Amino acid sequence: MMGKATYLDHNATAPVRREAADAVCDILRLCGNPSSVHGAGRRAHGWLETARERVAALVGRPPSHVIFTSGGTEANALALKGSGRSRVFVSAIEHPSVLNAVDHAELIPVDADGIVDLDWLDMALEECGREALVSVMAANNETGVLQPMGKVAEVVRRHGALLHSDVVQLAGKAPLDKLSAQTHMMSLSAHKLGGPQGVGAVIADELDVALTPLIKGGGQERGKRAGTENLPGIAGFGVAAELAGSDLEDAERLTVLRDGLENRIAQIASTTVFAAQDRPRLSNTSCFAVPGLKAETLVMALDLAGIMVSAGSACSSGKVKASHVLKSQGWPDDLASGAIRVSLGRTTTEADIEKFMDAWTEVYFRLAPENKPEGAAA
Ligand code: PLP
Repeated sequence: MMGKATYLDHNATAPVRREAADAVCDILRLCGNPSSVHGAGRRAHGWLETARERVAALVGRPPSHVIFTSGGTEANALALKGSGRSRVFVSAIEHPSVLNAVDHAELIPVDADGIVDLDWLDMALEECGREALVSVMAANNETGVLQPMGKVAEVVRRHGALLHSDVVQLAGKAPLDKLSAQTHMMSLSAHKLGGPQGVGAVIADELDVALTPLIKGGGQERGKRAGTENLPGIAGFGVAAELAGSDLEDAERLTVLRDGLENRIAQIASTTVFAAQDRPRLSNTSCFAVPGLKAETLVMALDLAGIMVSAGSACSSGKVKASHVLKSQGWPDDLASGAIRVSLGRTTTEADIEKFMDAWTEVYFRLAPENKPEGAAA
């Protein structure tokens, strides 16, 4: 009989931390609009500002740089659209919320591991640097690959362009202070770091960039995002950000678990192709494909065996398409549509990895019986 299901899809959404859930519930039970001037309003305003301080501390910026939004998607839209730049360059492996934020985005090509082509960017910015915004994600959600953000910043600043980075997947997994100093704007999402879904933030200094709001109305969020703030969500985000900032050392433990898992997968099927395996990448992420096997089939078979992982990007509509990330890196269509992503997190244990390996071994040999070693049990 199948035991408790094993969740290995932390890049899609991470389990909400108990303390963050408590903060959401506490605020929900209280009444107060942060814009009201009476006592209840002032209390609500205090909770809002406490959360702002906590998120600001995670990224090493003053609280005045934090603009709360409805999530990472809106944060990316506000940064890219709101900047009003006539030329917008985005890496080819960005999340769809960056790729589709403006109609005129131009794609920065990437190499076989998904690293941006800095020479291409340097040339592209030659003519138009001062009118340009460049958006390069710090860590990719599908493969976990990390961009050389210091070098990206150096090129972008040399040409007088603005630099935005989607740090949704990096936040809570690595320190952000250095990156924060190198970029003009960053996007965050609470639910990737143990906070609730439906809340995020743009980090931007008004002195660097005059953002035009996407949603106009009242003067909330320094006039950059109208509408009564999602105070319960924001409070949960604040608590999760504070706890995530103190939990970074988990990366080493996750690297050991992830590398062990990849070694065992490669032993079972030597043809397995791993994305960006030899490049710096998030310690929790493994993205791989076995030629001839379809991601959809694998994800469903693993789900039936009690293991939850993703095919390509889980942020899309639930349909499995060949990953645009892997295709940009030169993976052929059939290999890219076979890729699955296993993403570990704070709650992942060695026992979870064992359960994954048991399920994977069974599913793989069922789908590719011709590869089963002779004499192995049926
Ligand atoms: N950016 C990246 C890299 C993501 O992985 C995601 C979600 O998967 C988003 C942006 C969108 O964030 P949200 O779900 O908060 O809209």
